[in-house]
Amino acid sequence: MTNFLIFYNIINKGDEKLKKKFANFMKDRYGIDNLYMFLFTLYFILIIINMFVNSFILTILELVIVIIMFYRMFSKNRYKRSREEEAYLKLRDNIKSFFKKNKYKDKDHVYKKCSKCKTTIRLPLPSSIGFKYVTCPKCKNKFKTLVLRKQKVELIRKKS
Ligand SMILES: [Zn+2]
Repeated sequence: MTNFLIFYNIINKGDEKLKKKFANFMKDRYGIDNLYMFLFTLYFILIIINMFVNSFILTILELVIVIIMFYRMFSKNRYKRSREEEAYLKLRDNIKSFFKKNKYKDKDHVYKKCSKCKTTIRLPLPSSIGFKYVTCPKCKNKFKTLVLRKQKVELIRKKS
């Protein structure tokens, strides 16, 4: 018990000093950002997965993630680190919008890329699925494209 009290006293007394020291240490350093939070979440998920699969590769991966997290947090090159965060946010947005497109947010059109000039073309949904011939409005290239959705035609029967 006395041992514990002494230990507690040391920590408590050192608290202000440690706090100051830490604040001073972190003064010019980058700290935490969105990429840090992503890596932290990833690390956590990997730990949980690794509890079940117990893989050496995952353990190494966890270690690498922790090293990157700490390296970025304590880095003094704020410019480079914020550029990394920017790149991460851009990638995240791209992935998000990709999945949004795949969820058929636009229910009346289908988006296809021209095989020649790579322009994205918006086509009205045809009444049947399969290969369709499309003329690119930009380069007039005619190409065949596969359409996997068809327009839903609802039959409305009038009550007599
Ligand atoms: Zn084209």
